Amino acid sequence: MGIRLLLLSNLKEFLMIKKVLIANRGEIAVRILRACKDLGMQTVAIHSTADADAMHVRLADESVCVGPPQSRNSYLNIPSVISAACVSGADAIHPGFGFLSENSTFSHMVEEHGLIFIGPKANHIAMMGDKITAKKTFANLGLPTVPGSNGAVTNIGKALKIADEIGYPVLVKAAAGGGGRGMKVARSKEDFTEAYETARREAGIAFGNDSVYLEKYLSNPRHIEFQIIVDKFGNCVHLGERDCSLQRRNQKIWEEALSLVLTSDLRDSFGRKIAAAVKDVGYLGVGTLEFLYENKNFYFIEMNTRIQVEHPITEMITGIDIVREQILIAGGDKLSVSQDEIKFSGHAIECRINAENPETFFPSSGTITNYHCPGGPGIRVDSALYNGCKVLPYYDSLIAKLIVHANDREQCLARLQRALREYVIDGIDTLIPLHLSLVNDPSIISGDFDIHFLERFHKESV
Ligand code: ADP
Repeated sequence: MGIRLLLLSNLKEFLMIKKVLIANRGEIAVRILRACKDLGMQTVAIHSTADADAMHVRLADESVCVGPPQSRNSYLNIPSVISAACVSGADAIHPGFGFLSENSTFSHMVEEHGLIFIGPKANHIAMMGDKITAKKTFANLGLPTVPGSNGAVTNIGKALKIADEIGYPVLVKAAAGGGGRGMKVARSKEDFTEAYETARREAGIAFGNDSVYLEKYLSNPRHIEFQIIVDKFGNCVHLGERDCSLQRRNQKIWEEALSLVLTSDLRDSFGRKIAAAVKDVGYLGVGTLEFLYENKNFYFIEMNTRIQVEHPITEMITGIDIVREQILIAGGDKLSVSQDEIKFSGHAIECRINAENPETFFPSSGTITNYHCPGGPGIRVDSALYNGCKVLPYYDSLIAKLIVHANDREQCLARLQRALREYVIDGIDTLIPLHLSLVNDPSIISGDFDIHFLERFHKESV
């Protein structure tokens, strides 16, 4: 104990960041708090009035109320969040994911106030936040992209012409898109005008930017993404891939690492190619490049410039604490590993436990009347839940992540089944019953699925 305290206090003296404000809530705020505490850093939570009793507030060293329940007035209120950091004496802000994490104005303002933004530079957030620019940037650096319009399509006449050239089905996508919104499929020319207008309208409302572009709609790809980390000394590594093909409404609900369909040679060569491209862009920190993978070809779709929901499965198979690396790199440290030191061990699966009806995906809220968390070998639960806590209607429905690790995929599925059966969350609807049926499905067991699997699975089971 004495030695541990001594080590922590020694470590503190060398750290550039001593106090972190976590500009988020829920399980990711708790996850970040844990990384900060392991590093001996002080933590400041922010919360809305509705979240005063939330787990992230209870676990932080200090907390500041930043506004009323609605996110736009609290967690998204930039002046309130930055003021909270200044009054609490924090020297850095970790944005987590969602909320302000991909807002380049926010990251710029954080730095203007003399604080460290734990994430990439504002110009890279803006560059990757515009998917058209992101695609062009990586295409120029030699990464394959989905065939489509070469930029935004601004009128229906031109759009129809380009759609004909691409060949149906065609996907209309919002340049500023995220969370599966502002994306519409046109199966034929007859559908196109409606898909185009609807995508524009949705994008305008959701993102305040109705710019859209077109892509060939791939019929049976997998979603495969690579985790990368870059430090300011030009070291850039990839931590292998995650297969996130199991999605509902283009949003992931089950992720695996590694993917069953890549050979280790392909992983190594493509991973290094991606890392080199990211380094060329001058990027700093953690990021994920997302690809569709069909007929042994990769197609880049976007880059996320933040920590991702599904990062724990990569942590489980590499033993690397990605959030810790992210914080240390933001403080000016070197990456703790080189590419050759990164080894993959076993298989990991994450199930997103959303507060949703497992058949309709309708969000559910209320008080947790009984909570029991699974445990035992290979089980990790990232959540902010506790007995008697409230699941509020104002925020994202992701309330917990069940992460399972084992020597191989077969054992991982067996453990996952055991953990899902142990998990008790009473008082609200969750996706646990859906995950239980997935874990027993022959196609999931054999690993034979693509991004459309869940839509088909659902149609058959209702
Ligand atoms: P968002 O930023 O909204 O999450 P993405 O571009 O990352 O949007 O795509 C989300 C999901 O939509 C992908 O994982 C995939 O399932 C589907 N998708 C995206 N582009 C295509 C495409 N060209 N063809 C088929 N499906 C696609």
